Amino acid sequence: MKKGTPKDKSLRVAIVGSGPASFFSARDLLKAKPKITVDVFEKLYTPYGLVRYGVSPDHQHTKKVIKQFEKIGEHERFHFWGHVNVGKDISIDALRPFYHAIIIATGAEVDQSLVLPGDELSGVHASLAFVSWVNGHPDFVDHHVDCSHPTAVVIGNGNVALDIARLLAKPPQELKRTDIAEPALKALAKSRIQTIYVIGRRGPVQTSFRYPELCEIISLPDWNVEIDPRHLDLNPESLEELNGVLIKQKVHAVFQNLVNRKSVPSNKKIVFRFLQSPVKIKGEKEVEALVLENNILKGRAGKQRPEPTGQTESLPCGLIIKSIGSQGGPFSLLPFNTKTGVIPTHDHRIIDGDKSIPGLYAVGWIAGGAKGLIGHTKRQAKEMVQTLLGDLPSLPSPELDLKNLLSLLQTKHIGVIDFDQWKKIDHEEVRRGLEQGCVRKKFVTQKDFSSFFEKHS
Ligand SMILES: Cc1cc2nc3c(=O)[nH]c(=O)nc-3n(C[C@H](O)[C@H](O)[C@H](O)COP(=O)(O)OP(=O)(O)OC[C@H]3O[C@@H](n4cnc5c(N)ncnc54)[C@H](O)[C@@H]3O)c2cc1C
Repeated sequence: MKKGTPKDKSLRVAIVGSGPASFFSARDLLKAKPKITVDVFEKLYTPYGLVRYGVSPDHQHTKKVIKQFEKIGEHERFHFWGHVNVGKDISIDALRPFYHAIIIATGAEVDQSLVLPGDELSGVHASLAFVSWVNGHPDFVDHHVDCSHPTAVVIGNGNVALDIARLLAKPPQELKRTDIAEPALKALAKSRIQTIYVIGRRGPVQTSFRYPELCEIISLPDWNVEIDPRHLDLNPESLEELNGVLIKQKVHAVFQNLVNRKSVPSNKKIVFRFLQSPVKIKGEKEVEALVLENNILKGRAGKQRPEPTGQTESLPCGLIIKSIGSQGGPFSLLPFNTKTGVIPTHDHRIIDGDKSIPGLYAVGWIAGGAKGLIGHTKRQAKEMVQTLLGDLPSLPSPELDLKNLLSLLQTKHIGVIDFDQWKKIDHEEVRRGLEQGCVRKKFVTQKDFSSFFEKHS
């Protein structure tokens, strides 16, 4: 037998990334016959991807999916390799000889570029930076969002934009009970924001808002919610888009009801602005205003595009958050579509040109783009695992023993975190949370994690 050849003949699959797409894939692989061992590699100390670092802290009901992931994580054939950045600490090529197949599930962590003149001014933030700061992502420990100006603008018409507007408006005593990161809580508690604009380049019918999130924002105590009634006067194409689409009709009814709603005795307001595109940010060092250009919609129903009219407006503000989506990042030596920000796949197999690369798969936001909810990744994972299981008999067996992988990482001084160690962090976060009357107090900095392990190893 060749040195390093694995003695155990079990089927082995590695998954890179530990968000929902990864855990749902692991679950289906662990259920399969013959038995498969699943190794999940995660660059952070902590699993669960955007469920921990994206989903809004005041949406704890959504985070309950973690209970399902915990069960998967405790399976005897599941192994968590936390704190291993694949592509940096170890390449995909170096991982391949250890596994029958590798699945890439690294999400979409790069903000889509909406680069405006004045983008560099203090007070301009990308949505991913904002939500990562709120959720205590270790890469955003030094991020700071100043909420001292009375006017904030959120650019974008998706659910993340609604999450951000809601967080800016939510009473701090409610946020305090969640797992929000301490610096974000402090900044939001001192907030002087009185007006929040939510800007969309198209009309109210073309938003991607979900009905529950929209209802939540109009129900915020002490906040009036406004819309210009002229934007509800729809063109024939928008009326056609509404026709028969119940979800859109429900969202539209919410906007219509706002027009005649009695206002609450408060100076605070959330204003939905439609048919406006940001063109420039004004200011010296800090943001002073956002210049918006009015649009009209052109094109057939379902394909309407905003066209600038040349008419502009300067909106004074001190905080701008750009929420226009994100995309995946490339892996060296793996194909990548820079235009769409995804790893190209066909039937979930990674393809190079029109040929699939044996043993390599991609799933979740890195494969399908940054759209869709946690439940969508479950469906994608199921399909991908079906494809992989069909391919397994024809895939070559691993050449190397996993012990060699651990020693390889140790020689690079990479301290791998296993699932039991993660559970210890988890318990400690919840314990500290209980002490302070909240869901959990998150470990954030590298020091938080390393000093905990020093004490408990
Ligand atoms: C702000 C925000 C709020 C959202 N809110 C909701 C919501 O309320 N409800 C809902 O259903 N959906 C919500 N979603 C959508 C949901 O989060 C996604 O559908 C889902 O997380 C996508 O899963 P994923 O596994 O593809 O990616 P991710 O969840 O992003 O997981 C990717 C993982 O890969 C890891 N990784 C990346 N690169 C490497 C590497 N090189 N090596 C090792 N690991 C790596 C990352 O650290 C991360 O843990 C939200 C999304 C965002 C952005």
